This record gives sequence, C-alpha cells and structure tokens, in this order.
Amino acid sequence: MILGIIEHSEGQVSKLSLEMLHFGRGLAASTGKPLNAVIIGADAGSLVGQIADHGVDTVYTIEDARLTDYAPDAWAQAVAGMVGSHSPEAVIACGSEIGNEIMARIGARLDLPMAANALEVETGENYSMTRVRWGGSLLEEATLTASTKLLTVAQHAFEPAETGSGMPKVEAVSADINDADLVVRVVNRIVPEQDGISLTDAPIVVSGGRGVGSADGFASIVELAGMVGGAVGCSRAVTNNGWRPHSDQVGQTGARVAPNLYIACGISGASQHISGCAGSKAILVINNDKEAPILAKADYAVIGDLHEVVPAVIAEIKKRKG
Ligand SMILES: Cc1cc2nc3c(=O)[nH]c(=O)nc-3n(C[C@H](O)[C@H](O)[C@H](O)COP(=O)(O)OP(=O)(O)OC[C@H]3O[C@@H](n4cnc5c(N)ncnc54)[C@H](O)[C@@H]3O)c2cc1C
Repeated sequence: MILGIIEHSEGQVSKLSLEMLHFGRGLAASTGKPLNAVIIGADAGSLVGQIADHGVDTVYTIEDARLTDYAPDAWAQAVAGMVGSHSPEAVIACGSEIGNEIMARIGARLDLPMAANALEVETGENYSMTRVRWGGSLLEEATLTASTKLLTVAQHAFEPAETGSGMPKVEAVSADINDADLVVRVVNRIVPEQDGISLTDAPIVVSGGRGVGSADGFASIVELAGMVGGAVGCSRAVTNNGWRPHSDQVGQTGARVAPNLYIACGISGASQHISGCAGSKAILVINNDKEAPILAKADYAVIGDLHEVVPAVIAEIKKRKG
C-alpha cells in the first residue's frame, strides 16, 4: 500500500492533505497498490468523513486520549509502528512544516532516508523523482533508494480533487506511544487577530513590499484587499520593519499561498518571496522599476508608483460599483 499521513488541526483536515492524496492516487496507480491513509489523534475516527471521495481505500485510525493536539514524536512513533506492522511501499505526507517534521522523525526512527517536497515520481525498485529545492528556486532530479520510501509532497503542486470513491473502510490500529514521545506537543494555540478571510484561503491576495514605504502606507493595500474580498500579504522586508505582523508574510519563511490572483505591490521578487506565491494562478505586479526581477513571473504588470496606481484602482472599483 501507499500510506498517506493526514494532517489536521482543531477538527479540520488540512487542504494540503487533500492535495497529498491527489498525488498519492497517482503513486498508487503506478505501483498497482491501494492508497490508504492514517489519521492520528484523540478523536481520529470523527475526521474520516472529511477524506471520503478522495480515492482512499482504508483509513487507519490511531486514537489515544493523550493526543488531543499535534505531537511530532508521538505521530512519528505511531507511523513508524505501522511501517513495521503493515509494510507500506511508501509513506507520504504534506510538504508542510508538520509533514516534513514528522517524516524526518520517522526516518530517524527507522534509519531510512526521506525525500522532501516531491513533484513527480517514477516508481520502480528505486523511485526517480523531481523535487523542489531551495525554496522553489530549483528543481532537483533525485533517486530514492530505500526498502520503504518516505516522501513529502510539494505544496500546491496538486489540486484537492474528489473522485467519487465514497467512504473508505476504517480500521483501528493501536500505537506504542510512551510519555517521552509526548514531551514535544502543542499545548495551546494563540490565534492571531484577523479581519476577514485568511491569507492561505483567500482567492485574491494583495501583497506589499518595501516599496510601500511604511506601516501607514499599507492603508491603501488593506483597502484594496477588502474591496476585492481578498487578504493582505507582505514580504519579509515589511515584517522586518515591523510594518505588518509575521502572519502576513508570504515566502519561504512565511505562508505559501495559491490564490487566483496575487497582486504584488512594491515587491522585487527575491526567490524566497516567489517560493511563497509561485502557486498563484495569476500574478499582477505593480512596481516602478521595469527591470524588477518579479516581472519575469508576472502575468500582468503596471510599471508605476504604487502610491498612485493602487488609489487609482480603488477609485475605479468604487466608480464601477457606483
Ligand atoms: C533564509 C531567507 C529566508 C527568507 N524568507 C523570505 C520570505 O519568506 N519572504 C520574503 O518576502 N522574503 C524572504 N527573504 C528575504 C528576501 O531575500 C528579500 O530580501 C525580500 O523578499 C525583499 O523584500 P521586498 O521585495 O519587499 O524589498 P526589495 O527587494 O527592497 O524590493 C522593493 C521593490 O519595491 C519597488 N518599489 C519601491 N518603491 C516603489 C513605489 N513607490 N511603487 C512601486 N514599486 C516600488 C522597487 O522597485 C523594488 O522592486 C528571505 C531571505 C533569506 C536569506
């Protein structure tokens, strides 16, 4: 089997997990093995319905009253135990911080190599794969040689897609988790204040960079985002200056977004920023430098001062909305 690890938090399976299952279906088809999944948590069984219709044959639920929230070593121990008992051909997880963390810990426990951020895999005795490296600025061709292949799936490379496969079979599995596996665990969550839609779910992201010039300069970016039903993003230059909170940052060390439209205002296009927005369906650049590197990624561009262009766009939207 191909075994996918389902990421979830606060009773919600992540969208990245559904992307990962899409990738997993391809892997299952090319190996002729079923795609199964494992859900770990105090109430894992209640989440099974959220992955119905995503091509999963059997879901293994590992329930333990102590696993009320994410605990990387405990999750890794649970999956490592399943590698021993169920001998999957491959274990796959999301290429998120959590997915990569769990997989690295599984690899360490089983003394197996792991490959992070896979885009394409040619199966066989060894897996030949293309994977994303250096925050998305290069693609690497690699070969994974291992008795059980451990890999994570590049974020936003696949869409979550329903197959109509219906409810998977459910099988409870026990795990040998001890107290030492629970030393690192989430004990509290502080949700940042947020007006409106979240950055990672927004269909439009209006993002500002150093070119915005100040915290006050973001007023027009915030206004535009509100008018188009979008969220505000920013570059690291902005968070370093304290103009916006880190939760708004897009990029290698911030959020990865894949909106229908990404509007980049006063952002130069460093690879560490692009890795966070490269999955956008379209990119509109507003920049006063016609040589700015981000123009190479732009579907649309306005060369001009954002302090003139953004207010003009707002005025035009207001005019059209009457
Ligand atoms: C390990 C590491 C991780 C990193 N992670 C991230 C990350 O997650 N996210 C991230 O963003 N960066 C990240 N960085 C930083 C990254 O390398 C860049 O320094 C940063 O993205 C630059 O931000 P910027 O484009 O806003 O600023 P700049 O590079 O200074 O670009 C400003 C742009 O604004 C334009 N401009 C100026 N004034 C105006 C105006 N009035 N109107 C229109 N355009 C104007 C300029 O032409 C320029 O193109 C990381 C760096 C490292 C080393």
